Amino acid sequence: MTQVDRLLAAEVNPAYARLVADACLAHDLPPEYAGVLLQMETGKKLPTRPYHGNNIYGHDRATDGTLACMTVIGADIEVTEANYQAYLACVAAGGRRNGVGPLQITHWSLQDAAGPRLWDPAVSIPFGIKHFAGLRRAYGDATAFLRWNGKQTYADRAMTLLSEWEQLLEDPMPVLVVQMGHVGRPPNPGSVGTAREQDNARKAADAVVRHVHGKGGWGVNVVIADPPDSAYRGDAFVALHCDGSLDPGSRGASFGYQGAEGTAFAVATWQAYVRFGWPATSLKRDNYTTNLALYYGVRKAINQGNDRAFIFEMATTTNPEDRALLEAADGSGYDRVGRAVAAALGITDMPVPPATTPATAGTEEDFMYLTSHELGRSALAVGPVLVELTDAKERNEAQRVIDLNRAAGREVELKLSATTFKAALGEA
Ligand SMILES: [Zn+2]
Repeated sequence: MTQVDRLLAAEVNPAYARLVADACLAHDLPPEYAGVLLQMETGKKLPTRPYHGNNIYGHDRATDGTLACMTVIGADIEVTEANYQAYLACVAAGGRRNGVGPLQITHWSLQDAAGPRLWDPAVSIPFGIKHFAGLRRAYGDATAFLRWNGKQTYADRAMTLLSEWEQLLEDPMPVLVVQMGHVGRPPNPGSVGTAREQDNARKAADAVVRHVHGKGGWGVNVVIADPPDSAYRGDAFVALHCDGSLDPGSRGASFGYQGAEGTAFAVATWQAYVRFGWPATSLKRDNYTTNLALYYGVRKAINQGNDRAFIFEMATTTNPEDRALLEAADGSGYDRVGRAVAAALGITDMPVPPATTPATAGTEEDFMYLTSHELGRSALAVGPVLVELTDAKERNEAQRVIDLNRAAGREVELKLSATTFKAALGEA
């Protein structure tokens, strides 16, 4: 959730939320102070004001009853370029100063310093926030509010509101959106998936909920195949599917993703999936394909600002071995999916099993685990790679890929399992 989103959720005027967020950033003022000022000065107390922050004149009146320039008791007058000229003329003729704009800049010295475009919130909001930020730095919270307005009752009320705004703008629990592939689709027309795919997606989604919901501060929303677009909003997204093939020998899990955040989430899940026991030999060779990357669920999530998104083909269930692993009667296959996603989100309150791969040099968790043929196809752009040579025939291919990368001056770091590599080269 961005700062602007949080301000909007706290009912700051949508016309000004961006200006407020930018000005707070520029002047190092936490946005809850701006929220307090907007609520106190031109907040939503009248039915005509649905938001905090309105570009209006104040309702100032002197103790003798004299109205300030542009004051109409009981009504808001919107500040415009034209009527600000009238306001200045009224002041020049001896009229009383009035509050101007969302932050009600009032004192003559401030109005003069802000310049002739004070009617424009793009000027008055940053000006007011800069001024308040200076007061806060010089005097601290309570005295800054007192100096801003002059009345102790104002400062007291502002301090109460300050803790409310701190909570209002606090980051809510991050949410992982889990889409159960094909679930909820009518049998005809529409794609209902491969055999048992919906059932597998439901069970895996349950496991993700078990391992993620309420852990490490995360919440989970489980959605069906075609929810409303807004259901894709959140802080991470995974669509759970199974692959199928006419060739029962074809097997493998695969991943579709785009963008830096989606790539990082998918790769971390993929690494954890293998660490938790999914065979590294059962990853699709082309585990990253354009078709998967452009999967509609991933696109919809990204369109809703949920960029940390990927599609997870958990297994190719037309293959007997993949099926047995994913659909294991003890639920361990679904559990592995839940654990992998949780680990990829940085949730650490679960025991990490020892690596299932042969003993290797280095810390295995740091590396993507790939067999050498997979390395050649897909791994060059994603970071450190641990190469497991499962077959002596692959050693030439692995060496070629390493040489090519070195020759090209690539930054990609290739880490070989020292034991297995040397063994394959006949050196150990
Ligand atoms: Zn599917």
